[in-house]
Amino acid sequence: MSNPFENALSQLRRAKAVQDFPEDFLTRFSTPDREIHISIPVRMDDGSLKIFEGYRVQHNNARGPYKGGIRYHQDTDIAEVKALALWMALKCAVANIPMGGGKGGVTVNPKNLSDRELEALSRGWIQKLVDVIGPKKDVPAPDVNTNPKIMAWMVDEYGKMTGDTSGAVITGKPIDHGGSEGRGTATAQGGFYVFEALQEKLGLPEVCRVSVQGCGNAGQIAARLWEQAGHKIVAISDSRGALANQEGLDREAVIAHKEATGSLSGFAGAKEITNEELLAVPCDVLIPAALENQIRGDNADRVGAKVVFELANGPTTPEADDILFAKGILVVPDILANSGGVTVSTFEWEQNLKNEHWTEEEVFIKLKEIMEREALGIYEKSQALHTDLRRAAFSIAIERIAKAMGM
Ligand code: NAD
Repeated sequence: MSNPFENALSQLRRAKAVQDFPEDFLTRFSTPDREIHISIPVRMDDGSLKIFEGYRVQHNNARGPYKGGIRYHQDTDIAEVKALALWMALKCAVANIPMGGGKGGVTVNPKNLSDRELEALSRGWIQKLVDVIGPKKDVPAPDVNTNPKIMAWMVDEYGKMTGDTSGAVITGKPIDHGGSEGRGTATAQGGFYVFEALQEKLGLPEVCRVSVQGCGNAGQIAARLWEQAGHKIVAISDSRGALANQEGLDREAVIAHKEATGSLSGFAGAKEITNEELLAVPCDVLIPAALENQIRGDNADRVGAKVVFELANGPTTPEADDILFAKGILVVPDILANSGGVTVSTFEWEQNLKNEHWTEEEVFIKLKEIMEREALGIYEKSQALHTDLRRAAFSIAIERIAKAMGM
């Protein structure tokens, strides 16, 4: 499996090939400001003591406090967290929000923990990192396998330890713990605004056939938003398998089935396929919304979509980018496509600092304006540089970060 941090560095070098920027910037931006490894002891329900490995990477704060989610996954390691932190710095610059980039994680399969163990682990993560996070220093949020409930434990622990109860240290909190309206759906919603802004320019039809890889916060809500707008969901997957139907899946029934049985398997009215096969399903838009490294050199030539719309972080490797480009498949890059999540997180931070609470309508009006403006800006940049949308997005982000670094 390719190293995601190496992929991120390779993307930086590829962007430099289409728009030059100072070599000193590349040197500095290729290394995180700080990389923290922690061990979190948790008393398990059976009385044993277990140590979990955790991480926080603070990549760059030239434009504002480090910002980025916390991932709980059995495969999470420092290379993954470093890549995600670098992408966060670029993403915040793409959205032009006053935040830098960071990311956190714990190597754990949270499905194997009881609620009590999960709470102890989450409070433990804060206890070990309390000195390096804070509303003006570093503001974590949810990512894969973490959610508002976990953020509520974390913000409570931080408040108890520091006396700062503004809530601005963590975003993605439940609404009654200072969370923002719209944060739960912001990643997919922001993605949908980007999609609408670019749909015609990318040569997509009015009604698109859409495949979604991943059925969590990003993927499940994306499937709902695209379907509600009249598009047809022709395939969807979770970590264990996938469903396909060229006539269109009954999304609501699929989700009800997953909620009732815990998996997509056994759903009547669709063909069961593998996650690998999902990538090859003929469609207009493929939305990877699971994990990184899903579209690679060894499978990119089988992608059946006209456009890959990256709601996940890092789903396409640089090698796959070249193959997709040669096949005429356009890629809307993660640092643009999924930047709605961190944008509304930043709105949440701003509301907490000002002690305000915005309506969902206000949140989405502001989000739409940002997503449309930045999507069109990146499209125009790609035309001006005769390059793909990823390199164009990197160029814009790098210009903004380099300026803030005085380079
Ligand atoms: P989540 O934990 O809510 O859901 C992840 C989903 O992916 C689950 O349905 C899981 O079953 C599925 N999955 C895992 N491995 C898979 C595989 N190999 N094939 C298919 N499906 C698989 O996580 P999420 O918050 O939806 O995050 C998904 C992606 O979106 C990640 O890359 C994350 O970094 C990115 N993202 C999320 C947000 C956010 O606000 N949640 C913001 C920006 C980017």
